[in-house]
Amino acid sequence: MLLGLREHHRFLAAGRPFLYLVPSAAIFALDETADAIYHALGRSPQSRAELCDELGGTFAAADLEDTISELEQLRAIGPVHIPDRPAPKILPLLPFPLTTMVLNVTNQCNLSCTYCYEYGEDKIVDTANGRQPKFMSEETARDSVDFMLKASGDQKVAHLTFFGGETLLNFTVLKNTVAYARQRGREIGKEVDFSLTTNATLLRPEIIEFLADNDVGVTISIDGPKEMQDKFRVFHNGQGSYDVVAPKIKELLRRHRTRPIGARVTLTSGTLDVKKIFRHLTDDMGFWEVGFAPVTTALDRGYAISDAGMDSMLGQFSDLAYEFLEHSVSNKHHAFSNVKDTLEEIHKGVSKAYPCGAGLGLMGVSTDGDVALCHRFAGSEAHKLGDVRNGVDRNLQAAFLERHHIEDKTDCSTCWARPLCSGGCYHEAYTRYGETTRPNLHFCEWVRGWTDICLKVYGELSERNPAFLQQFDREESVAERAV
Ligand code: SF4
Ligand code: SF4
Repeated sequence: MLLGLREHHRFLAAGRPFLYLVPSAAIFALDETADAIYHALGRSPQSRAELCDELGGTFAAADLEDTISELEQLRAIGPVHIPDRPAPKILPLLPFPLTTMVLNVTNQCNLSCTYCYEYGEDKIVDTANGRQPKFMSEETARDSVDFMLKASGDQKVAHLTFFGGETLLNFTVLKNTVAYARQRGREIGKEVDFSLTTNATLLRPEIIEFLADNDVGVTISIDGPKEMQDKFRVFHNGQGSYDVVAPKIKELLRRHRTRPIGARVTLTSGTLDVKKIFRHLTDDMGFWEVGFAPVTTALDRGYAISDAGMDSMLGQFSDLAYEFLEHSVSNKHHAFSNVKDTLEEIHKGVSKAYPCGAGLGLMGVSTDGDVALCHRFAGSEAHKLGDVRNGVDRNLQAAFLERHHIEDKTDCSTCWARPLCSGGCYHEAYTRYGETTRPNLHFCEWVRGWTDICLKVYGELSERNPAFLQQFDREESVAERAV
């Protein structure tokens, strides 16, 4: 029986070779014997006896036998006449518990960011002339909480995220909904965790007090220093928003100390100085975490990031990731959340059948109470799964999960990055190709480059400060913090 290499990605970290084993999403550090076997089988498949013959002059027979067996067990190597079976298409059992409900309490915004997926050129829901109310009513918000508590099943904690439009335009409903959810949660013995995303323009002192007193997690959408923030994040009259938001954010960071406050940056072709943005948001403003996402848009928009722009972004991400590594080796905090989130997924051996929790453990609710795949699809008739009063249509949900499984994305079937990527964001695919089922093939090179960097950082950490990685055994999954 001839043995050969199984599907893997090889990388070097801390001066030694590692394999990322695609079928199991496990990481394996190769010692000298394992590396010699790897190279021998890389040249051509061989039988166990041939391998032992070839390498017997360099390694002890027992060591070789043990290492071959271990590599077989890990499925790093295997018989060539039995092709590696593709993972069977296992669909999640329904009802699947809802871990995060994103409540779009308004579809209105006091800013008009050029690139916004809700108002900009790529919007999929007509929030101006659509049938949904501009603001969610208190009754709908309460119905949504009841829906969430029921749909969360046996989960001890339900995560409720307020979203918009600009979330704080409907602060009264938000405030009353927190009180209602807390009371209902107490009655049934379930904890409710609250968070919101805001553009920070409306962070008045009493709102900041409320958020701090109620332990509400806050993510601020901000694009960096004044010249970058004011490029796209403008009021309806075209005025930039930096001077309005900067003092409010500083006050929020000073007053709200119970939970780390994060910044979420949208990168565009015109605002691609990742490191400058990062330094400003951490050193000058004091954010605990900063996460970046490239703008979601059709290719022909002026602010879409070109291939060269993606290369530049990857280079800067890499620099920040290695900075994160050096901080982590010394047990110091570093705010670059993109790398931390991916390290957590790698550590947990995540192998995704779906790119994110949308339509599964995560759902978005529009202002009229319709339930959709996620916040970005909230209010879209074509992506509706039900409503908060009547619940989710399990047939619609099952059909969605059936159509979007990684096994049906043939382009991804030979890609080593698929356990972590799984085809990428449905909303991105819809904006680019008009179809949520399409993998985001325009991002593949970037995704593979970024995954390779994160694997190397993980490998280095596993050698230089393995205790750092133990935090991921305790932390909630990134899927639960997906918004
Ligand atoms: S979208 Fe591209 S990078 Fe992602 S899994 Fe598919 S082929 Fe790989
Ligand atoms: S990755 Fe895309 S589809 Fe998934 S939750 Fe986020 S925006 Fe929605």
